Amino acid sequence: MSHFEHIGTALIHGGISNDAHTGAVNVPIYQTSTYQQDGLGKMRGYEYSRTGNPTREALEALIAELEEGYAGFAFASGMAAITAVLSLLHAGDRVLISSNVYGGTFRLLAQVFDHFSITYRIADTTDAAKFEADITEDVKAVIIESPANPLMTVTDIRKIADISHKHNLLVIVDNTFMTPYLQKPLTLGADIVVHSATKYLGGHSDVVAGLAVVNSEELAKKIAFIQNSTGGVLPPFDSFLLIRGIKTLGVRMDRHIENAQKAAEFLQKHPAVKNVYYPGLPSDAGYEINQKQAKNGGVMISFELHENYDIETFFESLKLVMLAESLGGVESLVCHPSTMTHASIPADIRAKVGITDGLIRLSTGIEDIRDILADLSQAITESEVK
Ligand SMILES: *Cc1c(COP(=O)(O)O)cnc(C)c1O
Repeated sequence: MSHFEHIGTALIHGGISNDAHTGAVNVPIYQTSTYQQDGLGKMRGYEYSRTGNPTREALEALIAELEEGYAGFAFASGMAAITAVLSLLHAGDRVLISSNVYGGTFRLLAQVFDHFSITYRIADTTDAAKFEADITEDVKAVIIESPANPLMTVTDIRKIADISHKHNLLVIVDNTFMTPYLQKPLTLGADIVVHSATKYLGGHSDVVAGLAVVNSEELAKKIAFIQNSTGGVLPPFDSFLLIRGIKTLGVRMDRHIENAQKAAEFLQKHPAVKNVYYPGLPSDAGYEINQKQAKNGGVMISFELHENYDIETFFESLKLVMLAESLGGVESLVCHPSTMTHASIPADIRAKVGITDGLIRLSTGIEDIRDILADLSQAITESEVK
């Protein structure tokens, strides 16, 4: 539970938000690897920074409060956080993943955890009956993303969590795309939330970081042990950057969403655009479920141009919006999922789940929306094959 009624305030004052020793209004960067002990076994709360560091701890307390969880953990990247969480599993266990799961999560399961006989199955988390039919004896966990990119597929988190718990599965939700400002999966029944904090939480495309939040003391003990044993921790300086980023999450997201809504409406009306995928549009397949569990449709939009538009020319014609992997920064970015973010998913699976070569993903930044739309508009015009 948060100490604050409104998340906009918790973002700034939540967790450990200042320095008890000096009154500094920001938690200092404790750039130290070790801590003096007053005698054998007489520690002052810290012994070694892989195990615990005050700057990292402030961030961990903050994300736990924001997600309304029991405890938070900070890692060197989103993938390090997901690796730590999947390390709860044992050989012989299977994980169900939603079909549009982050490419790196898919690769981690398909090409790393398979060495340890931990396997996966792609499940349709948008269809409760189909999902339940995929729960065999060996399935021990599910990873949900909602909305899942690049098609922004919405999963009813509460429904899938309820079914999963009937079968004793661990419910893991990757909340990178929504952040606790828009959606709190633990309050919808998830056991663990993971984040690529590299994206909206950091918000400035200047830090790679991951977070995990658990809903029980039992899971907290296990993740703390794994975090210390495997060692992929977030450094003090990066922890500081993330705390700083989170303070402005509310104002950034408000502007991001305002811009995304306008960009989605612009694209939907544009004659060159074949499809728009954005759960913030009432016409979107996931709109209603998303409205039920999240504050709004978030920021990420995907769209497809008609066949008589050349996608390479489109990307090369953009002047403001940058072609880059990643998302969630203040600057607008576009990417080409089939050759970039989702390239690690085999072509046949990509085709099956609808990640076509014509698909474009837009992370709407917080620039003046008139400039973003003007840039998209001129690049679309340039890319028409006459
Ligand atoms: C980027 C991303 C990740 C991976 O996080 P890194 O910080 O890049 O390691 C995981 N899940 C989602 C949804 C992402 O967008």
